[in-house]
Amino acid sequence: MNVASCVISGSAALFMFHPDAFIPNDVDFYVSSSGADKFTTALHARGYREKEEQPMQTLYGKTFALRVGRLYKIGVTGMVNLIITRDANPFNTLVQFHTTLVMNAITSDAVISLYPTTTLSGEGVVTVNTEKTRRCFMKYLTWGFKLSTLFSPHTCLTTAYCRKTTRSIEDKDVLVIPFTETGSKETALSDFSPFHWRIDALGRSRTGLPGKLLLFPKKRVYF
Ligand SMILES: [Zn+2]
Repeated sequence: MNVASCVISGSAALFMFHPDAFIPNDVDFYVSSSGADKFTTALHARGYREKEEQPMQTLYGKTFALRVGRLYKIGVTGMVNLIITRDANPFNTLVQFHTTLVMNAITSDAVISLYPTTTLSGEGVVTVNTEKTRRCFMKYLTWGFKLSTLFSPHTCLTTAYCRKTTRSIEDKDVLVIPFTETGSKETALSDFSPFHWRIDALGRSRTGLPGKLLLFPKKRVYF
């Protein structure tokens, strides 16, 4: 993962923050085309094989995912989804996800969350609200997460939790938990910075009513 600047995202990365909420099925690896060959070779060396007869449908279209491979290993229940990103920085794909809830990553050095306050409290803001994306959100709602169309009341541009705010992967609001005691936020982010994003700048259409709670999930039960 380190050599190819590859990250894990999707439900497997969310699981790191909510280990009691659900069990992820597949693991989604995001890697740029320049690192893809090395990473695929590494997976083959570990016994993974392509499942070509079962092409995975990509949620995000060809704009930022060039190709999606699906690999399996005999004796292992979950599948590996290999998403080859158009951009060299896999975070450029992560910030285009349809909810902030899954804008998290496991890298070779750390676990990272771009919207930790909401993600840790089990909430996500929907960035694209269409019939298709709502279908994709169902599993998260079933698992007890809450999704809404707006960040909580705030003064625009004063907080990281605003669609109009330009964020930096190096800003204080990005949560980075290094795997080792000697690891630092700077080291963990060195392969992925500088990187900036703004949710509203992504040119996506939103059909949701501002401020409306999108869906009402089952009540979350804590033990
Ligand atoms: Zn705002």
